[in-house]
Amino acid sequence: MAQIDHRLPQNIEGEFYVDSSCIDCDACRQIAPAIFRDHGGKSSVYRQPQDPGELHRALMALVACPTASIGTVSRRSARQGVQAFPVHVVDDVYFCGFTSESSFGAWSYLIVRPPEQGGNVLVDSPRFTSPLVKRIEQMGGVNLLFLSHRDDIADHAKFAAHFHCPRVMHQGDSAAALGVERVIAGMDSMRIDNDLLLIPTPGHTRGHQVLLYRDKVLFTGDHLAWSPERETLAAFRDVCWFSWAEQTRSMEKLLAYRFEWVLPGHGRIGHGTAEEMHQHLERCVASMKNA
Ligand code: SF4
Repeated sequence: MAQIDHRLPQNIEGEFYVDSSCIDCDACRQIAPAIFRDHGGKSSVYRQPQDPGELHRALMALVACPTASIGTVSRRSARQGVQAFPVHVVDDVYFCGFTSESSFGAWSYLIVRPPEQGGNVLVDSPRFTSPLVKRIEQMGGVNLLFLSHRDDIADHAKFAAHFHCPRVMHQGDSAAALGVERVIAGMDSMRIDNDLLLIPTPGHTRGHQVLLYRDKVLFTGDHLAWSPERETLAAFRDVCWFSWAEQTRSMEKLLAYRFEWVLPGHGRIGHGTAEEMHQHLERCVASMKNA
């Protein structure tokens, strides 16, 4: 719970505030950009909610924050924010909210499909917390847990145990040692079912992999994200833990696939036509080769 005594001085006066435990994960700024800003290394409130819609987004940010760094002076109920997750993104894809500090606030997603189409897929792991777990149960549970790479796995073991679902992860990120049921080897893409294509993308980590859903939504973990500053797709060299040359090759490989949405673990969501996204990806590859 946020501590009023640790309220950052950069916050504007009023009900909502961020305290000094903020780890600068960016989640609140994405969810409620009208309320939260980056003042340099941490977030703060620059404008208090002005209407019910902004209040709703601020409470969603409070709930999604991995470190419980967002508080309200009156200690108002966050129920509205809790009930908002998983929140719809596109088609049958939802953002889970409830990010975890152990994965530095990485975003995870739920694909909701009927059992005859393979059932629901959890893409990376959110915080294992009762309201979210109950809501996922109501939405059909989890049939498969896809783990993009070792950094964004959070409470994967608890989700796998609760929903009795197999996890799929690449051996390059020590999947076997984590107890993962379906360990991926090699660098060839692999079809999981009619909708889902797993594509190994080493670079950010040795065993990083992305997931392409219906040739439309690309779940990219920490491999690729939208950059608002550059206004295009980008990879981030300062957080490349394994090999930038490998990550560049992996990025080039993605040019062979068609997608309209990029849903990352860290970084911003990107959306455009398949042709636009292909052009953005070409720009990304070119800039990586020059970096
Ligand atoms: S969501 Fe929480 S940890 Fe992340 S930037 Fe906002 S206040 Fe900081």
